[in-house]
Amino acid sequence: MSARPVLRRCVACRCLRDRDQLWRVIRLAVGGVALDRGFGRSAYLCPDAACLEDARKRRRLQRALRCNMDDVVYQALESRLQHPRQSCGRVAEAR
Ligand SMILES: [Zn+2]
Repeated sequence: MSARPVLRRCVACRCLRDRDQLWRVIRLAVGGVALDRGFGRSAYLCPDAACLEDARKRRRLQRALRCNMDDVVYQALESRLQHPRQSCGRVAEAR
């Protein structure tokens, strides 16, 4: 068994990264949008605040998936930033 890295492109910064290091957003074949797993058209995004914000502003996930998307998807990804698995030097702003 070889762990061959599968590279995917972030929809925001367009860098290629190992699929395991990206968030996956799926437009489900049965309708709706899911994160991480599911069958359908997929888009990938770095787990990074800058990429998330860019994607949100420019509606990159919607474009990549060719569908409308509730902001709740971006909110769900944003909440993941509060629990980072890797340190990226960013701190959530307190209001
Ligand atoms: Zn990115």
